Amino acid sequence: MHGAAFAHAGLRGTYEARRVSAAELPAAVAGLRAPDVLGANLSLPHKEAALPLLDSLSDAARAIGAVNTVIHETGQLRGENTDAPGLLAALRDAGLAELPPGAPVVILGAGGAARAAAFVALRDLRRPAWIVNRTLERAQALADEFQAFGEVWAASAGATPWDAAPLVINASSAGLNDPGQTPLDAALLARLPAGALVYDMVYKPAETRLMREARALGLSADNGLGMLAHQARLAFRAWTGADVPAHVFLDALRPPEPA
Ligand code: NAP
Repeated sequence: MHGAAFAHAGLRGTYEARRVSAAELPAAVAGLRAPDVLGANLSLPHKEAALPLLDSLSDAARAIGAVNTVIHETGQLRGENTDAPGLLAALRDAGLAELPPGAPVVILGAGGAARAAAFVALRDLRRPAWIVNRTLERAQALADEFQAFGEVWAASAGATPWDAAPLVINASSAGLNDPGQTPLDAALLARLPAGALVYDMVYKPAETRLMREARALGLSADNGLGMLAHQARLAFRAWTGADVPAHVFLDALRPPEPA
């Protein structure tokens, strides 16, 4: 994606993947202060661990408690979270309209991605968030931490107000690289109201079981490719100042159509 963005913007630059262990993280982050480095993305499991290694954090990164983008400016490293605005942009692309007042947003999962989703639900969409997670204690801990941003509940799947939820976001890893797995029982999915959007952050496979079952019920569903593209677009803009359109990132992600 970033290679395509450099080419589109007419800039010289490279983006490389590096495998970094937890023990290597401090040295890897320190290496970002080199004069020719614009910044980096952080992936699992470093999004939270990197916070104390940075010189400053954006308000969103601090509130979410996770950094996916590091920006290098003359020796100083700033932590940003582009997952949250990337998710919001992808939800809009997926057709998310204004939600009814008070309508609950259900978030599946309680890890780093769920934190970004809860931030979007509470701070951007300004709707109550219901966190549903395999391990209820983790959902409760997230809900406790996010109380300051709005109405947020941790609930078992059985106690969640599915019938009133116009938006469900899968921020769990269920279904990742496993087409048989789903984070949500089909009987609960069937309780969602007509017109609900099921947004699955997972993008491999391109149509997850959750998406397939939602579509079979006549619901809207989309995968996480849009979020991936938008978070990259926002990171690229923070590093370079270049506003490369989202389709450049999406085109780089999608395999070419068969001839
Ligand atoms: P994480 O911190 O490891 O959290 C994983 C979450 O998934 C936990 O809440 C875990 O529950 C839950 N989970 C794992 N396997 C499960 C299963 N079989 N059934 C039900 N729940 C399960 O990971 P993360 O960083 O939040 O990422 C979560 C997902 O979002 C990943 O698939 C990742 O690829 C995706 N993601 C996509 C984008 C994008 O741009 N599209 C961006 C960020 C993340 P427990 O607490 O019970 O372990």
